[in-house]
Amino acid sequence: MSGEAEARLWLGRIRALPPGPPVAIMNVCGGHERSLSMLGLRALLPEGVRIIPGPGCPVCVCPEEDLADAIALAMAGGVTLVAFGDMLRVPINAPKGEVASLAAARAAGADVRPIAAPQDAVAIARAAPSRPVVFFVAGFETTTAPVAAMLAEGVPDNLSVLLAARLTWPAVAMLLAEEDNALDALVAPGHVATVMGAEEWRFVAERHALPVAVAGFSAESLLAAIYSVLRQKREGRAFLDNCYPELVRPEGNPTARRLLDEVMEVTDAAWRGIGVIPRSGFALREGWRVHDARARHVIAAPPRRRAGEMPPGCDCASVVLGRRQPDQCRLYGRACTPRHPVGPCMVSDEGACHIWWQAGIRA
Ligand code: SF4
Repeated sequence: MSGEAEARLWLGRIRALPPGPPVAIMNVCGGHERSLSMLGLRALLPEGVRIIPGPGCPVCVCPEEDLADAIALAMAGGVTLVAFGDMLRVPINAPKGEVASLAAARAAGADVRPIAAPQDAVAIARAAPSRPVVFFVAGFETTTAPVAAMLAEGVPDNLSVLLAARLTWPAVAMLLAEEDNALDALVAPGHVATVMGAEEWRFVAERHALPVAVAGFSAESLLAAIYSVLRQKREGRAFLDNCYPELVRPEGNPTARRLLDEVMEVTDAAWRGIGVIPRSGFALREGWRVHDARARHVIAAPPRRRAGEMPPGCDCASVVLGRRQPDQCRLYGRACTPRHPVGPCMVSDEGACHIWWQAGIRA
């Protein structure tokens, strides 16, 4: 059966479910949000079924302090700073005249280079062995596992990492623990589950009695997951379903998990605009600190006046937490567009504001 035929099949099943009270389903993956928005899937769902974008954008929650450290390192000179392309345009709250992004640091003459994969960082370090190279890493488990593999395989002495890596599930756990949360079900992230395993999301059903289904990125996989959680909801049940079995195993990818565990430890970590979420970040284990940029370099970032916050007027933190839709921000499409982004949710390809704007959703 073609993907389109399968998508139609799942849509038919969704529409054939008995009607019920409104349902709010959260997704926590920029890739899911992209498929849902770009394919216009929301408009096809029955009335009363809402799909809410949640914490699915690691660039959006990268703490301002870490970004300021990366900018300070680059501006101090003497190092090459590499980062995934999205990070370069993310703005911090800097006083007028101060460099407020890695892109601005680059324009001011700092050696800042966008990369697409950890191997690019290794290649840049190998090409100039006497020059320190710092890899600024902001990402979820899917980004962090390849970085752990990179370090475990062995990297040039001149390469270090500035980590701002986060785990996805603790943010969801924090949201679900809030008494007034209005969520009825979760579509769990297929990419993250490929690495960490579907079982990581069982807590949603067992601790919170909410339906949960792991989904891939195609329309048919997303619609299958939406059908699963809607059906569970209508039948008064809550269990973990895996609607991406072709890639997601219950235990995930054992090699990736082993390398992650070998190289990194889980720590409490700050999320921009949200605050500290317990055990939601990665740090290098003791044996790997020789590659920790913070241990190797003196980082003299100016003290932040509004540490941890989003730019003034930006509702990105509320968008990340699913409390506001992108088009409910008063800057959306006015002061804030992909050409002139105010907040990280409009910068990143995984940010809900950027995705909604690209999908043609206007305030
Ligand atoms: Fe922030 Fe721009 Fe999104 Fe508003 S539209 S929440 S300013 S990123």
